[in-house]
Amino acid sequence: RVWNFSAGPAALPESVLQRAAAEMLDWQGKGLSVMEMSHRSPEYMGIFEKTRADFRALLNVPDSHEVLFMQGGAVGMNAIIPLNLLQGFEQAAFVNTGAWSKKTSKEFSKYGTARVVLDNGNAAADAAAGAYVPDCAHLADRVNGQSMAYLHFCDNETIGGVEFNGQIENLANALDCPLVADVSSNILSRQLDVSRYGVLYGGAQKNVGPAGVTIVVVRKDLLERAQPICPSAFEFKTVADNGSMYNTPPTYSIYIAGLVFEWLLAQGGVAWAEQQSQLKADVLYNLIDHSSFYHCPVRKADRSRMNVPFTLADESLNAMFLSKAAERGLVQLKGHKSVGGMRASIYNAMPLEGVQALAAFMREFEQEVA
Ligand code: PLP
Repeated sequence: RVWNFSAGPAALPESVLQRAAAEMLDWQGKGLSVMEMSHRSPEYMGIFEKTRADFRALLNVPDSHEVLFMQGGAVGMNAIIPLNLLQGFEQAAFVNTGAWSKKTSKEFSKYGTARVVLDNGNAAADAAAGAYVPDCAHLADRVNGQSMAYLHFCDNETIGGVEFNGQIENLANALDCPLVADVSSNILSRQLDVSRYGVLYGGAQKNVGPAGVTIVVVRKDLLERAQPICPSAFEFKTVADNGSMYNTPPTYSIYIAGLVFEWLLAQGGVAWAEQQSQLKADVLYNLIDHSSFYHCPVRKADRSRMNVPFTLADESLNAMFLSKAAERGLVQLKGHKSVGGMRASIYNAMPLEGVQALAAFMREFEQEVA
């Protein structure tokens, strides 16, 4: 197998894939695949309950919050969240730090007034500083007293490689509205204080499992705020009251997510993932910072531990870099089309060994062409 640095759908732990393959035709002697099981059968209900319980344990989700397994992806949530939280409100506040958070505030404008209270969008003025997390010191002053339905931010900008490090979570108790965070690309890589959030959500296809399931963690008192036009299948209260089985859930994606959760618990849980993530990110950022050939466009303190964007000093070498990397089994390194350059996504399932293989290749390539 290759080392897959895709931003998502991303690499899964090899042992999880092996187990899924072994169970594909005959799950635990029942004579059928999980894919073929009724979602209401005792066998599947057992898989489902364990998956949800393991997720709650991994993220230390308190009783005040429901965990929902939904569909629609994180982009779907850009509409589903206003449909669920905007009743009685006309506006919400947004922190824009990159492509994904901007997409969220744009979609919100279909439902209400999106107030961008903080952004890092002054690219021309800030080019020298690189991409960064904006100063959050006065955030509460800009949000409070304005009847905001909630404050939204994206904890890790997968495309730009900009990640928060608790700056907004630490302010949550000073806000007069719930905090909503897109954690699609860094969920389960760092312990969060879930009690500080109104809603946490993410598509599964990075740290959790295959695409198709969207995880939503919602504070129970927010289940009463849905607009009457919210589709029943996407209404948090309906989904919660029906144990995420109001309609057929993405059963197989949930099963694989369950295997990933078991794997993560066996490794040492989120504390292990947090330590590994830092270790892996440091290998790449140290290399980049000690080289005059590679450059990372993100301010040091705000660099993502999950998605490492970098450029080569000579862009005409990009195609050669990618093809030589692929010859070494290092794939999916091309940066997002909107930013160019390279991006190495190093989610929980990427072992340190894979990151070291990439670093060794990058050093050799630099020596070869310099
Ligand atoms: N938000 C973030 C931070 C992402 O990285 C992605 C990437 O897939 C999305 C949202 C979109 O998620 P989905 O494709 O599941 O709708």
